[in-house]
Amino acid sequence: MNRKKLQKVTDTLIKSCKHFNKYEVNCLITLFYNLVGDVAERPGVAIGLDRNAFRNILHVTFGMTDDMIMDRVFRGFDKDNDGSVSVSEWIYGLSLFLRGSLEEKMKYCFEVFDLNGDGFISKEEMFHMLKNSLLKQPSEEDPDEGIKDLVEITLKKMDQDHDGKLSFADYEKSVREETLLLEAFGPCLPDPKSQLEFEAQVFKDPHDFNDM
Ligand code: CA
Ligand code: CA
Repeated sequence: MNRKKLQKVTDTLIKSCKHFNKYEVNCLITLFYNLVGDVAERPGVAIGLDRNAFRNILHVTFGMTDDMIMDRVFRGFDKDNDGSVSVSEWIYGLSLFLRGSLEEKMKYCFEVFDLNGDGFISKEEMFHMLKNSLLKQPSEEDPDEGIKDLVEITLKKMDQDHDGKLSFADYEKSVREETLLLEAFGPCLPDPKSQLEFEAQVFKDPHDFNDM
């Protein structure tokens, strides 16, 4: 990207991103272009992080391990759904990741957990995600039965209007009562430790970010 165009993008991001100051936006943009590497810009093709590159960052930098959740996080960042995280999607996504309010985080997590995007977290979706995140634990005789029980328990706790699935209203009410339920179906936000390490390193010197 030529300097003039980059300056314009940077200025827009600084103005529109309420959680980062000018210095931080600049650091994160520098990091973005370091991560993207020397990709030649082609007309009509946006420079960005593709699914694999992005998942690698989630894994190495933010300690995520769950493939299904990482895919959903990628979708959450890739707002225009073009298969790559652009520089503005990177800044907006990280602003939520690192500084988001509870409201912003609830909206984001709900979208991650609503696997088919129909506005509800169904029993099947819960089962899918819980099974996926619990597989690492020692297996019981019939793990599916245990997970089905867990789905019922979770539903009983969170399904406020008792229609057998979670709407955003159900989810929001439950999370406000018990914040731990924010990531009820799998970790999709960075844990506090990797978040602190990331910020300490990137906001000190983004050129020096060598952990990838
Ligand atoms: Ca995109
Ligand atoms: Ca759904």
